[in-house]
Amino acid sequence: MKKPNEMTIEEAARALRARELSVRELWDACVEAAHAKNPELNAYLEIFDADDAAIAAAQKRVDAHDPSLLCGIPLAMKDNILIDGHIASAASKMLENYRATYDATVTGKLKDAGALFVGRTNMDEFAMGSSTEHSAFGPTKNPCDPSRVPGGSSGGSAAAVAAHLCIAALGSDTGGSIRQPAALTGLVGLKPTYGAVSRSGLIAMGSSLDQIGPLTKSVTDARILYEAIRGMDTMDSTTIPDDAYPAHEVPQKLRVGVPRHLLTESVSADVRIAFDATLDALARAGHTLVDVELPTSSHALAAYYVIMPAEVSTNLARLDGIRYGHAARGKTLLDDYVDSRTEGFGEETRRRILLGTFVLSSGYIDAYYRKADAARAVLRREYEKAFESCDVIAFPTTLSPAFKFGEKSDPVSMYLEDIFTVTANLTGMPAISVPMGSVEREGKQLPIGIHFTAPHQAEEILFAAGSAVEKVR
Ligand code: GLN
Repeated sequence: MKKPNEMTIEEAARALRARELSVRELWDACVEAAHAKNPELNAYLEIFDADDAAIAAAQKRVDAHDPSLLCGIPLAMKDNILIDGHIASAASKMLENYRATYDATVTGKLKDAGALFVGRTNMDEFAMGSSTEHSAFGPTKNPCDPSRVPGGSSGGSAAAVAAHLCIAALGSDTGGSIRQPAALTGLVGLKPTYGAVSRSGLIAMGSSLDQIGPLTKSVTDARILYEAIRGMDTMDSTTIPDDAYPAHEVPQKLRVGVPRHLLTESVSADVRIAFDATLDALARAGHTLVDVELPTSSHALAAYYVIMPAEVSTNLARLDGIRYGHAARGKTLLDDYVDSRTEGFGEETRRRILLGTFVLSSGYIDAYYRKADAARAVLRREYEKAFESCDVIAFPTTLSPAFKFGEKSDPVSMYLEDIFTVTANLTGMPAISVPMGSVEREGKQLPIGIHFTAPHQAEEILFAAGSAVEKVR
């Protein structure tokens, strides 16, 4: 039999209702595993004490047959999502001692659903990175092979779920930070439609790109968490009503668009074989494969790495040691600013702030920022056009499985990790990564993922595509 902490949300909710398990036993199983494994994995920056009142209240609701499947379920929270009374540092020295004075909207919704929080998880500083190596508090290890990265920036959330140190987790995704770590640790990761989930109480990185979403052990679990956190919010004016975009029927058989021209030799040979095998299996199950052309996709990564740093440089400007964040004091006011930001920010964060400031400066804004923004609009139109002939568009989530610590030491090779994931953030469309088996590296089996993008607000089609992969795998 599965241990309680190894269960999915769906399984744990059923076991709680069948009285095979109490909320306390489920909590203890997760927290004991977390304390046992965290010294090696560094998935959590902090494991919380039990909230006895919340555990008792959840048990009461389960006993009263409350329909919320999240009631009594222990979850992990990325360190950039606020939980009232707890530290939220975004894995940065800058916010090391920042304690949230309110709940993020998603946190409030999960509390209302009866969920419990095991702790806050490690990440790349301010969510910039693809390996969790940029955390100010040390990297997180991949539970599948501790000599490798778990992906990033939500690497702590991914490792916590994959190692069963919680039942599921939330992450944030600006360019792939939920989907890429999900792929590298064998999980399902969803980036919702821009505006589907409130960003209130998420420490902002790239405000036009950021979305909060689930990292889970199954597609059903991703759907349960997504349904719990989504919806309009008066605290975030970019949230959208349910009918902001045309409705999409979920077809019985999917038309899967495949942009073969993008699957170049940079995709590892064994990843390509697994991807083709998954597509073949989908075709045998009655789904149709359609060729699609997305000519501007080759410029998506360049556009992303102009737009995202531009937004980062603006969002992080408030962290200056005067208004917010780590405060160093020098001889002059200028020293105060310079020392606070030099001590508070890590190398990657500083690089992006510099890059962002540059592309927004007069004289360069037209050449870089405005051009990237124009490319973004073209990409969106291209995808909308492609969706006239298909329901989802499929890629491998990453070019290769999890890499070793230190392997991608130059920034550009790290940025290439996002080549297939950034477009969904630029277009605002929802996207999901679902496990598609594993490939071998140095005698170890390492998970990889298949990535689907769907039209705006067609998350249900993504869940259908994800379930179809789970069935044929
Ligand atoms: N890896 C990407 C970056 O470094 C994406 C980060 C994210 O999605 N938060 O920008």
